[in-house]
Amino acid sequence: MVERRIRAARFPVVKNFDTFDFIAIPGLNKMLVLELARCEYILRRENIIALGNSGTGKTHVALALGLAACQKGFSVGFTTAAALVSQLLEARDERRLLKLQRDLASVKLLIIDELGYVPLSPSGAELLFETFSQRYERGSTIVTSNLPFEDWTSVLGSERLTGALLDRLTHHVSILTMNGDSYRLKQSAGRRRVVARAEQNQAHAAAPETGKITQS
Ligand code: ADP
Ligand code: MG
Repeated sequence: MVERRIRAARFPVVKNFDTFDFIAIPGLNKMLVLELARCEYILRRENIIALGNSGTGKTHVALALGLAACQKGFSVGFTTAAALVSQLLEARDERRLLKLQRDLASVKLLIIDELGYVPLSPSGAELLFETFSQRYERGSTIVTSNLPFEDWTSVLGSERLTGALLDRLTHHVSILTMNGDSYRLKQSAGRRRVVARAEQNQAHAAAPETGKITQS
């Protein structure tokens, strides 16, 4: 059953908290995250918003919370804001919007990743708003975004719509602030250092310093 829920959730990759390094992101409230991993917020139909710059582990945390929910027996759906909106627009054009909206409203936990990277068309924003509206107090939603709330209007286009969406989304919410250095950049910088050291050692082995030779 857990396997089936994980497949149905359509996670791009499966991640958990065992591989998440909380020390790398000191601004993140570890206690709160571990409490959320117990999934009681899903019973209370509360939401989670993870905000922060790129590469700080927002998607990782959302995936790990999604996996925890699958393991606890909740149905989960994972999507990005851009993919969800194009799915909604396509469904509307093909006259199967109601069915998709019903499916989206019925999962216990819907994860909408990456709100903010792509500005939405007016009808796209409207359909996204409807999704939140239909889930309001019926199920839990996790949203991740690289933008602070005051900039969400630039994605949704309309101040009125953004206000109404935030009103619903933040009524019962835990906010995870995940600002910090990009873990990706840190890792690739780390890799570059390792490579540079290896190259140095190699050069050293090929042409040992004369001083060392006379000493030995
Ligand atoms: P974001 O969604 O905030 O842009 P991601 O969650 O995609 O960032 O993180 C980028 C990569 O770095 C992923 O492979 C993720 O697993 C890894 N990562 C980020 N933060 C951490 C962390 N604190 N501990 C372990 N891996 C991390
Ligand atoms: Mg991400």
